[in-house]
Amino acid sequence: MDDLSRFCCLNSDCPDHGKRNHGNLTVPARYGLNKTRVLRCRTCKTRFSERKGTPLFDARLPPEKATAVLAHVAEGVGTRKTARLVGVHANTVTRYIRRAGRHARELHDELVAFSPDDH
Ligand SMILES: [Zn+2]
Repeated sequence: MDDLSRFCCLNSDCPDHGKRNHGNLTVPARYGLNKTRVLRCRTCKTRFSERKGTPLFDARLPPEKATAVLAHVAEGVGTRKTARLVGVHANTVTRYIRRAGRHARELHDELVAFSPDDH
């Protein structure tokens, strides 16, 4: 079964925009090696990736590295130290911090949702 309770419609013009666990989302397709889900909103018919709107979306890092970066940042580890520990460029860490900043409240949920154990 697909647990969609964490997701919501990302179309800001949709009456159900931002409502989680509202029953308006379906999974019409999957793509990629990780079988990333395509979500569709029944209300406005918009389709989007389950990764859109999360700090991991459109990132060039493999999910386990991205998760590691976010985990360090969430623990308050500085940019340079995180870069050194995870083995990525400091600019990459900065980019993730910027992405995560817009989603700070849901960061923990997303870390759990996209952890490498999730397959
Ligand atoms: Zn919608």
